[in-house]
Amino acid sequence: MPNMSIEVIAGIAFAVLIVLSLLMRRRRPKERTFKCSRCSTIAEHTPRTIDAWRSGKTKFFCNACHARWLRSHPAPAAHNRAELAPAHNRAGRSERSGCLGMFAFLVALPFLLIATWWGYA
Ligand SMILES: [Zn+2]
Repeated sequence: MPNMSIEVIAGIAFAVLIVLSLLMRRRRPKERTFKCSRCSTIAEHTPRTIDAWRSGKTKFFCNACHARWLRSHPAPAAHNRAELAPAHNRAGRSERSGCLGMFAFLVALPFLLIATWWGYA
């Protein structure tokens, strides 16, 4: 009984890992780098450009050009800045990894409960 449950759990954990890696792959551009549409620099994708890629954009800008663009296009009104801030945070690393961690936790939780149940029953 314990031997079988370990095999089942290992199998399920493996399946979850495959699903997670597929999800991760689908959410990222194929290439790790892109050519800046403005200065033609080859730059690595950042959370910002990956977000742009996900929303269907085909032109990406390197961090230097993006910073220049932001400086030349300041937020016109206070309420716009307030709306921009959460959107910028959403693209941040901590938020996404937190979301992914939560997702992994939710997926793993039933299996952890089952493992505990079978381990101590
Ligand atoms: Zn550039």
